[in-house]
Amino acid sequence: MMDVEKQIMDFTVLTLFPELVSSFFEHGMIQRGIEAKLITGGCINIRDFSCDRHKTVDDRPYGGGSGMVMKPEPLEAAIAFAKKKTPGAKVILMTPQGTRFDQKKACDLAARKENLIFICGRYEGIDERVYNQHVDEEISIGDYVMTGGELAAMAIIDSVSRMIPGVLGSCASFQSDSFIDDRLEYAQYTRPEIFNNLKVPGVLLSGNHEKIKQWRQTSSLQRTFIKRPDLFKTQVPTTEEKQILRQWCRELTTLVNS
Ligand code: SAM
Repeated sequence: MMDVEKQIMDFTVLTLFPELVSSFFEHGMIQRGIEAKLITGGCINIRDFSCDRHKTVDDRPYGGGSGMVMKPEPLEAAIAFAKKKTPGAKVILMTPQGTRFDQKKACDLAARKENLIFICGRYEGIDERVYNQHVDEEISIGDYVMTGGELAAMAIIDSVSRMIPGVLGSCASFQSDSFIDDRLEYAQYTRPEIFNNLKVPGVLLSGNHEKIKQWRQTSSLQRTFIKRPDLFKTQVPTTEEKQILRQWCRELTTLVNS
């Protein structure tokens, strides 16, 4: 049986602008994950698979209209090359028409550790026949349209990689992150203790771990309530959370009435 824990997750980005993506693999936590042999990543230039002497990768849309469409032949050849390099990899098309990416999807992809091939579109997108024949999944990073899929692919690779045990150095680093359990993360402070006349909350300097934990839970709930109350619909507050929110409400009432 395959040792899932030791399996390296590979990310291959098919793009017309490899320089945009290659430096992403050479910095920060992603580079660290690659050095630690927890992930691997690289780019394939779709243009390298164009067969004509002008290295054409796009053409006019059938039926007319503005813009250009990515030609099917170079893209299909690039996908075949990537699949040969990482057999069994899942092919994901970056498109604003795909399922919206979120933290749950990042957790899911990180847990599966399947190798992933990202197709980054440009112009008006890719020829539908490549989509029909070679794409396993379509992902969007939000309801807006960008000029290319590279930023979307990097956003996904970044958020998936940091959830792979070891990439951040300690598992705890992402356990309190926003959107884990549908709550926002608590307020964070670092040195100095006083900055622009504003003091760090005393409890965080107390060394009392239980009190710090309680303060953080309260801060997390307050922020979720103020910034993203919709998350309480996806994950209904527990009895304990309701008690904390009620206590906060009482404090606010006292403050307002004083
Ligand atoms: N004409 C396409 C449409 O309306 O659906 C949009 C094409 S867009 C200008 C060019 C490429 O950028 C897309 O093929 C896709 O790869 C990428 N892209 C743009 N917005 C995106 C988003 N929100 N999420 C993921 N990829 C996106």
